[in-house]
Amino acid sequence: MIERIAQGREPLNKATVDDLIERWLTVAELELSTRVSYEGYIERVIRPVLGKMRLRELEIRVDIFDVLYAELRRCRKLCDGKQGLVDHRPLGRARKPGEDGPGHRCDERCRLHVCKPLEPASIRQIHAILRRAFNFAVKCRWMSENPRPGRF
Ligand SMILES: [Zn+2]
Ligand SMILES: [Zn+2]
Repeated sequence: MIERIAQGREPLNKATVDDLIERWLTVAELELSTRVSYEGYIERVIRPVLGKMRLRELEIRVDIFDVLYAELRRCRKLCDGKQGLVDHRPLGRARKPGEDGPGHRCDERCRLHVCKPLEPASIRQIHAILRRAFNFAVKCRWMSENPRPGRF
Protein backbone atom coordinates (compact mmCIF):
# COMPACT_ATOMS: atom_id res chain seq x y z
CA MET A 1 0.00 0.00 0.00
CA ILE A 2 2.69 2.46 1.01
CA GLU A 3 4.66 1.50 -2.07
CA ARG A 4 1.63 2.11 -4.23
CA ILE A 5 1.15 5.55 -2.70
CA ALA A 6 4.80 6.39 -3.17
CA GLN A 7 4.75 5.24 -6.79
CA GLY A 8 1.70 7.31 -7.57
CA ARG A 9 3.56 10.52 -7.04
CA GLU A 10 4.39 12.30 -10.27
CA PRO A 11 7.67 14.12 -10.55
CA LEU A 12 6.90 17.66 -9.46
CA ASN A 13 7.79 19.38 -12.67
CA LYS A 14 6.04 16.92 -14.97
CA ALA A 15 2.53 16.57 -13.58
CA THR A 16 -0.15 17.69 -16.01
CA VAL A 17 -3.73 18.78 -15.52
CA ASP A 18 -4.82 15.28 -16.63
CA ASP A 19 -2.66 13.74 -13.88
CA LEU A 20 -4.05 16.13 -11.33
CA ILE A 21 -7.71 15.64 -12.27
CA GLU A 22 -7.35 11.87 -12.24
CA ARG A 23 -5.76 11.88 -8.80
CA TRP A 24 -8.14 14.45 -7.39
CA LEU A 25 -11.24 12.55 -8.58
CA THR A 26 -10.10 9.44 -6.74
CA VAL A 27 -9.84 11.27 -3.42
CA ALA A 28 -12.38 14.11 -3.67
CA GLU A 29 -15.48 13.78 -1.54
CA LEU A 30 -18.26 14.63 -3.93
CA GLU A 31 -21.98 13.97 -3.92
CA LEU A 32 -22.83 11.50 -6.68
CA SER A 33 -24.77 14.08 -8.70
CA THR A 34 -21.93 16.59 -8.36
CA ARG A 35 -19.45 13.98 -9.48
CA VAL A 36 -21.52 13.12 -12.54
CA SER A 37 -21.82 16.74 -13.60
CA TYR A 38 -18.14 17.47 -12.84
CA GLU A 39 -17.08 14.47 -14.93
CA GLY A 40 -19.12 15.78 -17.84
CA TYR A 41 -17.34 19.15 -17.77
CA ILE A 42 -14.00 17.46 -17.28
CA GLU A 43 -14.44 15.25 -20.35
CA ARG A 44 -15.98 17.90 -22.58
CA VAL A 45 -13.94 20.95 -21.64
CA ILE A 46 -11.13 20.57 -19.12
CA ARG A 47 -9.28 17.55 -20.49
CA PRO A 48 -9.42 18.52 -24.19
CA VAL A 49 -8.29 22.09 -23.53
CA LEU A 50 -6.02 21.94 -20.49
CA GLY A 51 -5.28 18.24 -20.00
CA LYS A 52 -1.79 18.12 -21.44
CA MET A 53 -0.63 21.33 -19.81
CA ARG A 54 1.89 21.04 -17.04
CA LEU A 55 0.86 22.46 -13.71
CA ARG A 56 4.14 24.35 -13.51
CA GLU A 57 3.30 26.04 -16.79
CA LEU A 58 -0.17 26.99 -15.60
CA GLU A 59 1.27 28.72 -12.57
CA ILE A 60 2.78 31.33 -14.84
CA ARG A 61 0.05 31.34 -17.51
CA VAL A 62 -2.99 32.31 -15.48
CA ASP A 63 -4.37 34.23 -18.49
CA ILE A 64 -5.28 30.86 -20.01
CA PHE A 65 -8.35 30.70 -17.78
CA ASP A 66 -9.65 34.06 -18.95
CA VAL A 67 -9.15 32.99 -22.56
CA LEU A 68 -10.98 29.72 -21.92
CA TYR A 69 -13.94 31.35 -20.13
CA ALA A 70 -14.20 34.04 -22.81
CA GLU A 71 -14.27 31.39 -25.52
CA LEU A 72 -16.92 29.37 -23.62
CA ARG A 73 -19.05 32.51 -23.37
CA ARG A 74 -18.80 32.73 -27.15
CA CYS A 75 -19.26 29.06 -28.06
CA ARG A 76 -20.05 26.16 -25.73
CA LYS A 77 -18.42 23.80 -28.22
CA LEU A 78 -15.18 25.78 -28.34
CA CYS A 79 -15.35 25.63 -32.13
CA ASP A 80 -12.81 28.43 -32.54
CA GLY A 81 -14.69 29.69 -35.59
CA LYS A 82 -14.05 26.52 -37.61
CA GLN A 83 -16.23 26.21 -40.69
CA GLY A 84 -18.32 23.22 -41.66
CA LEU A 85 -19.01 21.81 -38.19
CA VAL A 86 -22.31 20.05 -37.60
CA ASP A 87 -24.48 20.15 -34.49
CA HIS A 88 -25.74 16.57 -34.39
CA ARG A 89 -29.22 15.90 -33.13
CA PRO A 90 -29.34 15.38 -29.39
CA LEU A 91 -28.23 11.93 -28.40
CA GLY A 92 -30.90 9.77 -26.88
CA ARG A 93 -33.50 10.83 -29.42
CA ALA A 94 -32.75 8.13 -31.89
CA ARG A 95 -35.60 6.93 -34.04
CA LYS A 96 -34.29 3.39 -33.97
CA PRO A 97 -32.03 1.70 -31.45
CA GLY A 98 -28.40 2.07 -32.45
CA GLU A 99 -29.12 5.10 -34.60
CA ASP A 100 -26.97 7.37 -32.43
CA GLY A 101 -23.41 6.77 -31.34
CA PRO A 102 -21.26 4.45 -33.46
CA GLY A 103 -22.71 4.25 -36.94
CA HIS A 104 -24.59 7.53 -36.47
CA ARG A 105 -25.92 8.81 -39.77
CA CYS A 106 -26.78 12.47 -40.11
CA ASP A 107 -30.30 13.36 -41.10
CA GLU A 108 -32.36 16.55 -41.22
CA ARG A 109 -32.15 16.95 -37.43
CA CYS A 110 -28.39 17.48 -37.69
CA ARG A 111 -27.68 21.11 -38.59
CA LEU A 112 -24.72 23.26 -39.48
CA HIS A 113 -23.12 24.39 -36.25
CA VAL A 114 -24.29 27.67 -34.74
CA CYS A 115 -22.26 29.06 -31.81
CA LYS A 116 -24.16 29.25 -28.55
CA PRO A 117 -22.70 30.59 -25.32
CA LEU A 118 -22.26 28.27 -22.36
CA GLU A 119 -24.45 29.42 -19.47
CA PRO A 120 -22.69 31.41 -16.72
CA ALA A 121 -23.72 28.72 -14.18
CA SER A 122 -21.83 26.11 -16.19
CA ILE A 123 -18.74 28.27 -16.43
CA ARG A 124 -18.90 28.73 -12.66
CA GLN A 125 -18.98 24.93 -12.32
CA ILE A 126 -15.91 24.55 -14.51
CA HIS A 127 -14.18 27.18 -12.45
CA ALA A 128 -15.17 25.39 -9.23
CA ILE A 129 -13.66 22.14 -10.52
CA LEU A 130 -10.38 23.86 -11.41
CA ARG A 131 -10.24 25.76 -8.14
CA ARG A 132 -10.80 22.61 -6.10
CA ALA A 133 -8.35 20.53 -8.14
CA PHE A 134 -5.67 23.22 -7.82
CA ASN A 135 -6.22 23.42 -4.07
CA PHE A 136 -5.55 19.70 -4.01
CA ALA A 137 -2.43 20.22 -6.14
CA VAL A 138 -1.11 22.73 -3.61
CA LYS A 139 -1.84 20.31 -0.79
CA CYS A 140 0.13 17.62 -2.64
CA ARG A 141 2.88 20.14 -3.38
CA TRP A 142 2.39 19.73 -7.10
CA MET A 143 1.92 23.47 -7.27
CA SER A 144 3.24 26.17 -5.02
CA GLU A 145 0.05 28.19 -5.15
CA ASN A 146 -3.41 28.01 -6.65
CA PRO A 147 -3.36 30.06 -9.87
CA ARG A 148 -7.10 30.79 -9.56
CA PRO A 149 -8.03 30.67 -5.89
CA GLY A 150 -11.07 32.98 -5.92
CA ARG A 151 -14.23 33.40 -7.89
CA PHE A 152 -13.67 34.16 -11.52
ZN1 LIG B 1 -25.40 13.94 -37.31
ZN1 LIG C 1 -19.15 27.51 -32.30
